[in-house]
Amino acid sequence: MKSKKFFSSLLIAALFLSSSTLAHANETEVWRFYSKNMTYKVDSGISSLMQKGWTNAVTQWNEKGMNLYSNSSSINTLGVFNEVSSTLYGRMQTWYNTDTFIVTKFQGGLNIGNSNITGSNVATSTATHEIGHAMGLKHNNNNSIMNSARNRSNLWFPTSYDVQTMTQIYAGTIGWNAIAASVYQPQVPTDVNISYDFPTTNKLEEMVQESDIIVIGEYQDGFETWNMLRDPNNSQKESEEAFVEGQLYDFKIDNVIKGNVDGGNIKVNHRAAESLTLKFSEDVEEQVTVSDLFYIAPKTKSKYVLFLKQNKELDNYYGAIEPFSVTIDDNNFVKLNSNIIGSEGTSQEFQLNNVTVHNDILDSIEDNISGMSLEELLNKVTAVGGVKGYSK
Ligand SMILES: [Zn+2]
Repeated sequence: MKSKKFFSSLLIAALFLSSSTLAHANETEVWRFYSKNMTYKVDSGISSLMQKGWTNAVTQWNEKGMNLYSNSSSINTLGVFNEVSSTLYGRMQTWYNTDTFIVTKFQGGLNIGNSNITGSNVATSTATHEIGHAMGLKHNNNNSIMNSARNRSNLWFPTSYDVQTMTQIYAGTIGWNAIAASVYQPQVPTDVNISYDFPTTNKLEEMVQESDIIVIGEYQDGFETWNMLRDPNNSQKESEEAFVEGQLYDFKIDNVIKGNVDGGNIKVNHRAAESLTLKFSEDVEEQVTVSDLFYIAPKTKSKYVLFLKQNKELDNYYGAIEPFSVTIDDNNFVKLNSNIIGSEGTSQEFQLNNVTVHNDILDSIEDNISGMSLEELLNKVTAVGGVKGYSK
């Protein structure tokens, strides 16, 4: 594996993080398409499975009342990216104008570096979710394609809940094809929103089931950074287009609760930030760096229980799902680590080329773990099938 030092840009220091507290969990974003009619273009050169994910998603939304149609000159592109060692499924960039709240452009990606993406219906579920973002639907905790905790094999279509939201957004809009060109003015983007599809859970049981290994131990000092974004055609090669900062920590294992581990130390990867290319116009493109809002710097000299998945190809481990990390205090009580416990979401905003860039996580989870003793936690973990007994 090739690694390189990441020189965090000045930009990242200039960013600010804020927790937005919304009065109510609103199910809609501020933006929407001008009407139910909207063009898109699926990137040629992506696998037929990923193409199918996007086209199935379009069919799903169209069956529920949208009119999304393929057009080879559309600026709304649907494609793939290749980010390894991650539970990230997909991403959507939605550009819009804040005077009219009309979407000016969207760019969606399915993560082919997440091996789960090839599972039954998973690409379709992710694509339907990502198009939902562009249409103006927000993450929520209901029976919804916009729920980050959904089962992606079983829930890959807009539910009746989503149809209600969609209807609310698009009620009264008519097709722009029917409107005189003098009435419809092309919109200038003032904002761009970056949305993701990362799985989350409230359930310890699911954290256990998603993990290849569960270990107790300590992070060691220092870390090495590397580019988690790979060449789309070769996962052994890092991408030359953009940079997703992974931080690899040595983790010294005291006990293995689930799975098999060779040796006493493993490499645990933390996704910290990503740089993306934003295309402001035909001629203006810029690289920006946004934080991973789930990121929490690990502490040394503290005991952790970690719920991890293995990346066999690159020989490292990463969080199996959000949340995946529990701290053990000196009295052997545990505390769940996550930035989205009971929150209304966390966001980051900055200005560039007269455009406001928004990086959002609008999910929240319940903490059903903190305050337990370690023994109680491990009893619950081992009660889930497929986990061997904890040896003290
Ligand atoms: Zn999402």
